[in-house]
Amino acid sequence: MKKPFVTKEQLVEITKQYPTPFHIYDEKGIRENARKLYKAFSWNKGFKEYFAVKATPNPYILSILKEEGCGADCSSMTELMMAEAVGFSGDDIMFSSNATPPEEFVKARELNSLINLDDYTHIDFLEKVAGIPETICCRFNPGGVFKTANGIMDNPQDAKYGFTKEQLFDGFKKLKEKGAKNFGIHSFLASNTASNDYYPTLAGILFQLAVELRDKTGADIKFINLSGGIGVPYKPHSHVNDIMAIGEGVRKAFEEILVPAGMGDVALFTELGRYMLAPYGHLVATAIHEKHIYKEYIGLDACAVNLMRPAMYGAYHHITVMGKENVPCDHKYDITGSLCENNDKFAIDRMLPKIDIGDLIVIHDTGAHGFAMGYNYNGKLRSAELLLKEDGGVKLIRRAETPEDYFSTFDFSKDYKFPLA
Ligand SMILES: *Cc1c(COP(=O)(O)O)cnc(C)c1O
Repeated sequence: MKKPFVTKEQLVEITKQYPTPFHIYDEKGIRENARKLYKAFSWNKGFKEYFAVKATPNPYILSILKEEGCGADCSSMTELMMAEAVGFSGDDIMFSSNATPPEEFVKARELNSLINLDDYTHIDFLEKVAGIPETICCRFNPGGVFKTANGIMDNPQDAKYGFTKEQLFDGFKKLKEKGAKNFGIHSFLASNTASNDYYPTLAGILFQLAVELRDKTGADIKFINLSGGIGVPYKPHSHVNDIMAIGEGVRKAFEEILVPAGMGDVALFTELGRYMLAPYGHLVATAIHEKHIYKEYIGLDACAVNLMRPAMYGAYHHITVMGKENVPCDHKYDITGSLCENNDKFAIDRMLPKIDIGDLIVIHDTGAHGFAMGYNYNGKLRSAELLLKEDGGVKLIRRAETPEDYFSTFDFSKDYKFPLA
């Protein structure tokens, strides 16, 4: 059974000050999970997690992760700016972008961050716009299909990212000629994986590649970035990844491949987003309507702009009706938002306890790629974000948008006067 990290009593108290909908994050859970990740990779001397900022771009969340020893993985100008504001700099920032605008490379170089190039042609592009740094990383795309012992996980051949293998060898040679001294390799081959084999299999591929690259180009490989992709159990009975087993699987590959090749001092990096945050966020909403037509509907005060994953991917997010945890799930509902889009449904044909108007609804696992994917369709405003602190207190870490925010991009014009509250 999936249990919320807040109680109904806590939420009733919180909603007196902060009306629904809002996202709330669990500081204790975030910290404990980050510590477990570091423990799982403690055998590797240079290990570092660069949290994928895009998953939960909030400076308060980034600060917590910074305190736990994490860096920041950025892929846009504003993500770099946020990382800078939080105090990340130099090797604390990994810039893993693609189709990168020139000014973003310039900013990444100004911050002295590690740059992960997405393409062979970006070598000349980077040299032209910002110069080649001493330390550089390149992203690998092996093509074909990506398989582990459990079967096919994804289709890298269809992904827009990374260098081909041949380009990687040429790229490393070219970068060396242009003055690069320290190298890294990166690859991201499958998302939201539900298997302890993903990282070890990926690590095996990258470790072999690293040995070959060193042998054929003479590049001094300092780090290997396994990127993101470790999944979380969105459904109550989904496979739960065991981070200790994953760390151990990677260690085995490390000792089989890198250590005998004399590369036992290579640092391992990760760029996890979902695994670091998803389970430690809830979207909290209130049931404000019920509707009985060909199906039974419950309308919430939250909608897909607060959480896009169900509408976009048909993703499952578990729902708890607060205070009814032990009531039988004998009602079948579609749980909807208010957008004029029929895909604005948090759940379809979901068996839940009978829902009454005013019930508080917790939508689980929204801590990553939740608020972050938000948008303003139908003129809907982004919600607040709250932090449930370790001491049980609640802190506002982003206020809800107001109509002023929504209309602010018309501030160049005096043609209209927007009625504001
Ligand atoms: C999205 C992304 C991540 C994080 O992915 P998760 O699935 O959230 O772990 C890491 N690195 C890069 C380059 C990404 O684009």
